[in-house]
Amino acid sequence: MNEYDSDFLAQSMIQYGLFPVDDPNHADIVLINTCIVRAKPEQKALSFLGRMNAVKKRNPALILGIVGCLAQKEGVNLMKRFPQLDLVMGPRELAGIHEILKPLDSDRKKIVATKLDCGPAPRVHTPGYFEGRPTAHLCIMEGCNNFCSYCIVPHVRGREISRPSVEILEEAKALISEGVRDITLLGQNVNSYLSKENKGLNFPSLLCKISRLEGLWRLRFTTSHPKDLSEELIQCFREIPNLCPHLHLPFQAGSNRILKAMKRGYTRENYLELTTRLREVKPDIAITSDVMVGFPGESDKDFQQTLDLISQVEFDSLFSFKYSDRKGTVAEKLPAKIDEMEKASRLSILQALQREITLKKNKAFEGREVEVLIEGKSKKGDMLTGRTPSNKKVNFISDNNYFNSLAKVLIKDGLLNSLRGEAIKNE
Ligand code: SAH
Ligand code: SF4
Repeated sequence: MNEYDSDFLAQSMIQYGLFPVDDPNHADIVLINTCIVRAKPEQKALSFLGRMNAVKKRNPALILGIVGCLAQKEGVNLMKRFPQLDLVMGPRELAGIHEILKPLDSDRKKIVATKLDCGPAPRVHTPGYFEGRPTAHLCIMEGCNNFCSYCIVPHVRGREISRPSVEILEEAKALISEGVRDITLLGQNVNSYLSKENKGLNFPSLLCKISRLEGLWRLRFTTSHPKDLSEELIQCFREIPNLCPHLHLPFQAGSNRILKAMKRGYTRENYLELTTRLREVKPDIAITSDVMVGFPGESDKDFQQTLDLISQVEFDSLFSFKYSDRKGTVAEKLPAKIDEMEKASRLSILQALQREITLKKNKAFEGREVEVLIEGKSKKGDMLTGRTPSNKKVNFISDNNYFNSLAKVLIKDGLLNSLRGEAIKNE
């Protein structure tokens, strides 16, 4: 979501007549987009702001802004703490960046824009911005109504609002016209998408509409909440040919006691049933997830249940985090906080288990042929890189150099973080 917001801001700046530079010392405007879902990104954002403050001291003409969730949470306090700041802007105000830039630029006014009750305003698209990029994100809704007990998102991104489907379709068409072939629809809980403007169009219907757009090869979405994953949506994996066989379905914890304290609204049994059903409907589907260790009161037995769920489901990959207190959430006030050392130890046990599973899954690809959407050169520059429909990263040797095109690749090695292979030559 942050990357999408940053792309939007960059496009707005270009439309405003600015162009990107690599070094903040050479910039006229620096906007720092922030995420505070966990303590670590929040600390990183603050330390980066400290560094940019120093840049502004050297160049007082610089316009320095902080945007996103940290800006929303701290508001005017940030301005007090960092007097060099010119702009503090929450995520819901992003669409108004043009109007905000004008007085900032001409009158050098300081601005705090942190309204949360405004709807998602239409987002501008700058022609050419996505040229050469085969993949893109597309935000279909903002905010969240779930209030999981550990989570800051509903507090800083506001209540859930779905964007009108017409606007979403227009944005998708604009992306496709620039060569984007793989679109990931974004929302905190896409399963509860409902377009008021469009006679209550729901998420499966939106998926069908977008999937039919000419030139779209791959369609994905994230994130799905297990409590709202309907049979209708599961069937989409069978019925929509260009819907990729990959679902990110965060489970967070394997113990019912902890899931209840997290206010997630499902049990481990519900979760296991969903993954079984998904694999019945789409046997090759890749399932990935998010999980947390060290939620307040998590006993060793609770943690073992998380490990047990991981072993049962065998996720393709997993994002795993140590629980961190977020100010103003219900979990922050819960007793029985887990010691940091214990959290770190649980995390490393969990990650070792997942590494084994990921490696086993990736090794199973050896000798198989996969279809890769080419994104560019590999990190080392000696191969091409791209992803399979199931979102596995593939580095491969090829004589051709066609970015934004599909290649058939024979997998030779299944590694921990990627697959490695060779392009199959067309006869
Ligand atoms: N809307 C998505 C999650 C968005 S936040 C969903 O419900 O699945 C991304 C991930 O950050 C979450 O899935 C969770 O695993 C993690 N997370 C959120 N709050 C956290 C906290 N306080 N401490 C540690 N991890 C957290
Ligand atoms: Fe946070 Fe829960 Fe909403 Fe996801 S569903 S954003 S974890 S409150």
